[in-house]
Amino acid sequence: MKLIFLGPPGAGKGTLAVRAVEMLGIPQISTGSIFRAAIAAKTPLGLKVKSIIDEGKLVDDETTIALVKERLAMDDVQKGYILDGFPRTIPQAEALATFSAVDKVVNFDIPDPNVIERLSGRRVCKACGYNFHVLFNKPKKEGVCDYCGGEIYIRDDDKPEAIQKRLVVYREQTAPLIDYYRKKGLLLDIDAKPMIDEMEVIFKKAMGI
Ligand code: ADP
Ligand code: ZN
Repeated sequence: MKLIFLGPPGAGKGTLAVRAVEMLGIPQISTGSIFRAAIAAKTPLGLKVKSIIDEGKLVDDETTIALVKERLAMDDVQKGYILDGFPRTIPQAEALATFSAVDKVVNFDIPDPNVIERLSGRRVCKACGYNFHVLFNKPKKEGVCDYCGGEIYIRDDDKPEAIQKRLVVYREQTAPLIDYYRKKGLLLDIDAKPMIDEMEVIFKKAMGI
């Protein structure tokens, strides 16, 4: 099963993807996580994309497409994958179609005010990447990850100015993909307003699993 998770930042794509990986036994490919790992490791890619990402802008299509193309050539994804955060522009979708055929595109439907509430309260484990929330999903001990003991921090792009920017970028550059995939008959809409446990139920129902 080759899936795309499409939706605004903060829609819960990454959180649901982690669960879907277990359900379906296929790997998650998150371009955002790949970029953040590159930034943390100060690789040439990381140095190139850090300021772009911190400001809430998109990394250029050429760099992003090359990265995903290389990843999708690996053995572990030949039976399926969940693409989380890619494609984010029409040129990225057109490029993807030339090297992989997706089965379904899951569209996470959520209004802007919900997104802002989620992102401004999001806290992330530096070590394992788990997402907490100051209201909805607090760690047991403040600042410490429940799962790995890692340090919890606020992503630079979850600061208020960057959140606004990411929403504008999403509406202008990524939302056109909804129609693009709907026309191809691949789109599966899911309500992304509920909390994660309920979303998991909605997702399974939509997928027929
Ligand atoms: P979120 O879904 O919370 O916005 P991601 O972790 O998916 O966060 O992405 C973080 C940042 O990484 C994006 O704001 C963007 O700068 C960059 N990025 C991720 N995926 C792509 C992509 N497909 N094309 C361009 N930039 C990307
Ligand atoms: Zn952790």
